[in-house]
Amino acid sequence: MAQKKAQPGKKRPAGKPAAAKAEPAPKAEPVKKAEPVKKEEPAKKAEPAAQAEPARQEAPAQKAKPAKKAKKPAAKKTAPAPKAEAAPKAEPAPKAEPAPVCDTPRRSVAFIGSECHPFVKTGGLGDVMYALPRELAKQNCDVRVILPRYACIPQQYQDKMVYRGEFYMDLGQTGRRYYVGIMEYIWDGVVYDFIDNQEFFTTGNPYVSLVDDIPKYCFFSKAALAALNYMNWIPDILHCHDWQAALAPVYLRTLFRDSPVGRAKTVLTIHNLRFQGIYNIPTIRYWTGLPDEVFNMGALQQDYVNANMLKGGLAYADRITTVSNTYAGEIQTPEYGEKLEDHLRYHNYKLRGIVNGIDYGMWDPATDPALAVHYDITNVLRHKPENKRALQQELGLVQDEGKFLIGLISRLTNQKGLDLVNAILPQVLDGNTQVVVLGTGDKQYEDTFRWYENEHKGMFSACIQYDEARAHRIYAAADALLVPSRFEPCGLTQLNAMHYGTLPIVRETGGLKDTVEPYNVFTGGGNGFTFDRYDAGLLLDAINRAKTEYFTSRYHWDEVVQRDMAKDVSWQHSARQYKELYLELTPW
Ligand code: ADP
Repeated sequence: MAQKKAQPGKKRPAGKPAAAKAEPAPKAEPVKKAEPVKKEEPAKKAEPAAQAEPARQEAPAQKAKPAKKAKKPAAKKTAPAPKAEAAPKAEPAPKAEPAPVCDTPRRSVAFIGSECHPFVKTGGLGDVMYALPRELAKQNCDVRVILPRYACIPQQYQDKMVYRGEFYMDLGQTGRRYYVGIMEYIWDGVVYDFIDNQEFFTTGNPYVSLVDDIPKYCFFSKAALAALNYMNWIPDILHCHDWQAALAPVYLRTLFRDSPVGRAKTVLTIHNLRFQGIYNIPTIRYWTGLPDEVFNMGALQQDYVNANMLKGGLAYADRITTVSNTYAGEIQTPEYGEKLEDHLRYHNYKLRGIVNGIDYGMWDPATDPALAVHYDITNVLRHKPENKRALQQELGLVQDEGKFLIGLISRLTNQKGLDLVNAILPQVLDGNTQVVVLGTGDKQYEDTFRWYENEHKGMFSACIQYDEARAHRIYAAADALLVPSRFEPCGLTQLNAMHYGTLPIVRETGGLKDTVEPYNVFTGGGNGFTFDRYDAGLLLDAINRAKTEYFTSRYHWDEVVQRDMAKDVSWQHSARQYKELYLELTPW
């Protein structure tokens, strides 16, 4: 779950202009929708934040109030009737409460993160922000997901958003008040609130460069809390994700301490410790306006020069989670700790690993529209070879169901163990084995794989691209999937592979270790083939063990195929663990 290129969406200006375009609909609605909320405490919401911020004394509360009042007149001005009708349809907040199917007490949770499938996704974080809230909604949670309203969010979703309100907010030492619009979309029991501000969210991709991203996520984290106050929706739990939302717990315990949202408990999840949001202290101080006491070595300060947003969040969060148990242990060591190992060891009493799942709606070989032939556990042995032949044809490989087909679907970066793969490919390509690589990333790896394709025509295919459908076909066609990562917080590809009856060959690190039990040749147990040290020879050995089993003991191989398909890699179990964590923090 790292930061890759965002999937392109159709552009549409976000921020005020967009709101302005849509004004007719939104403003007509919000008056109705938001009214109840406003009645309760619109003014208060702005006030608490104001109270917390010294700068506000000058005028914040006053300004905030008029801003709300101003809505009504605005609505009157622009209230073209046509869209006003659509408003009531989208409004019904009650939909957000599905029938509880579990017997644990109800809790409200606000997810704060920088990406979420299908609106915007660059990696595993987007998958988690999509699937976990939906599963939590089934487990008696009232979930609201707060996201930036990037311009790259596809038009089809922009069109479904409904204006929920707007206000102005101070930001750091800028001396300015910034527009915060709230656009809402309710879908499958989950409410999505998009924070709108054209100044920060107009770029096509969520992540541009730190120079832009630091102010953007300082604004976003603060606006998310202010928006909760504004909507008068105070969650039991604030669940923040990665460095982009890591300032939320810090704001919550400082500037927002005395506001309504200040009563929430916080969970911060690390999806990939490599990305931390580090920048010089004056800049972060300027954009956050956080008090001096947070810029110390126990919280935001990284060294004499820099502040680290993730580090601050880890210090202030009530609980820290990461996406597997093994990774939770690894990040407390110098090898994997990305210079935060001491800080994490200090806070390890509140650190926990909860492994990710996959969404069975998106990943199901029985219904997957991308596949040549659908299959399930009862007919996988018959239909998988047909998918293999179809892929061989698609990619120009020698069409032979008897070849051992290895897939590799990955960002092509140093994290993913590709130097090991390159070192052993000549030995792997023995005439009976084919390899398909799908991915984009560092040029050195892209070029090397292209070279192999040229050298081993018909046996090696380098697909240097991001292609969801092709990824699905590779999972369905391959016999084994390679994941030899240097480090892997959780990893989703091995889960997808198992669910499609493809045996993973993985390095025993992070989530790979927690989800793939090594095959035991004596008992026949296990899910895949593993190796421990980061060593090309050990990777080759694991591949050779897989090949031996495939070519000489197919009956046992097939047993593992079926066992992997039967393995529960859904979100259900993980969501239950998150729910338990929430209950632990809110034991009333
Ligand atoms: P990451 O570190 O990139 O987040 P994960 O294993 O957690 O790795 O998630 C990767 C996800 O992205 C998987 O669902 C995988 O199928 C998908 N993926 C990776 N590369 C590609 C690609 N080139 N084309 C299509 N899907 C890809």
